[in-house]
Amino acid sequence: MKTNFDRPVMRTVRPLALTPPIAPPSFATPRSRRPERQAIALISVHGDPAADIGKEEAGGQNVYVREVGEALARLGWQVDLFTRRTDPEAPAIVEHGPHCRTIRLEAGPVAFVPRDALFDHLPEFVEAFERFQNAEGNHYPLIHTNYWLSAWVGLRLKERHGVQLVHTYHSLGVVKYGAIAQLPPIATTRLGVEREILERADRVVATSPQEKEHMETLVSALGRIDTIPCGTDVNRFSTGLSRRAARQVLGMGDDRPVVLYVGRFDPRKGIETLVRAFGRLRDRDPQLADAQLALVGGWDDQGSDGRERRRIGDILQGLGLESSVTFAGRVGHDRLPLYYAAANVCVVPSHYEPFGLVAIEAMGCGTPVVASNVGGLKFTVVPEETGLLVPPQDVEGFAIAIGRILKDPVWAQQLEARASDRVQQTFSWSGVSGHLSDLYRRLLAATIAPATPADLNAVRARAVKTAKVS
Ligand code: UDP
Repeated sequence: MKTNFDRPVMRTVRPLALTPPIAPPSFATPRSRRPERQAIALISVHGDPAADIGKEEAGGQNVYVREVGEALARLGWQVDLFTRRTDPEAPAIVEHGPHCRTIRLEAGPVAFVPRDALFDHLPEFVEAFERFQNAEGNHYPLIHTNYWLSAWVGLRLKERHGVQLVHTYHSLGVVKYGAIAQLPPIATTRLGVEREILERADRVVATSPQEKEHMETLVSALGRIDTIPCGTDVNRFSTGLSRRAARQVLGMGDDRPVVLYVGRFDPRKGIETLVRAFGRLRDRDPQLADAQLALVGGWDDQGSDGRERRRIGDILQGLGLESSVTFAGRVGHDRLPLYYAAANVCVVPSHYEPFGLVAIEAMGCGTPVVASNVGGLKFTVVPEETGLLVPPQDVEGFAIAIGRILKDPVWAQQLEARASDRVQQTFSWSGVSGHLSDLYRRLLAATIAPATPADLNAVRARAVKTAKVS
């Protein structure tokens, strides 16, 4: 039966703004529109929280910053999300709601610049941030940075303004570089900044126990680390849709096994491992000879993700699999639950994955996950309970694991139920943001309380002196 994954889909991104975006050139927002709340800043230099997700360099970090920002606003904070402006046509400020907005600062060319080439523009980002702060008459006593580039910015702002600094890595250079043959020229700088932020931030957030262990053993033992996972929208990514209903909407048949990949097109995501495993599975198992593979994720023909898309296309051609594989392109979160619900299994074959939002999105929709046994995936996917873990790049291992789930529908149903339970209980954005909010409050409270007995003595001595004078 012919699937219809590749038919044109509607514009798929969740509406960005609850109120219309404010156009440039002026950054100034009327103070009357900003009620008195504690303002905090989240910085994500290269991952625009208001961007379309699923294209080159727009993935989990963008989702994290946006979702955390919106959830923190619901908890009572005034949240400003700072990123670098890359598109002259896009608004300088996007309001996600009355208390959460993305602010795009000019630092370097107003165009896409690969993240490894952004370091030289960071001083401009610091200056633009300070200009914005002054123009608004705002002061952010707490800044939460994301990825090492933003960490560098946060460290400079801490030096200059004494802010409380919280950091989430999203990716650790020392682990990432262990998995690639040739280090980029920026590697030494990145590793230095990643060590500095761990030792100097007021708190670093690890998104899984595995990431915490990597920080402590591979970066520095001097960090103050809290483990708070990433989350997902548990209402959106839930078991509300049956497989049959989802397949009907997507124009897919009811009876064929469907294997799903969702994510960016990047060689480190391991799509090659998946397509080779899929080919092996179909070749040797007559029961699975009509299985379908759906690859969800966008690419830009000129970019590195376009190169990966073409490379995967060539591999598929070599394996004679083109007619069994569909490239769905970028799909927004409004329609992604349909794909998860339609699939029998979702595969996350990354070589390295600090957290891996796709795994919890799929599990939330009740879709078992076969994932690489790396990083945060070891924490989110519970083997034999919510899916299976396989060594990265192990084509045979992935073929066996995917086959086990596809061929045992009774067991697969048990995996489905446990997968969605796990996500509901552990990975809601509101739960995650509640933990972050508690952390921020503790840090801010510590800045106004005398920290040490020496401080207390100094305060008492001043009080005695004042009493004597008067
Ligand atoms: N994503 C999306 N549309 C796509 C492909 C991916 O919305 O076409 C989203 C996906 O739902 C997830 C994020 O991009 O929320 C990817 O995050 P993950 O942590 O899995 O990987 P990263 O991109 O950070 O490496």
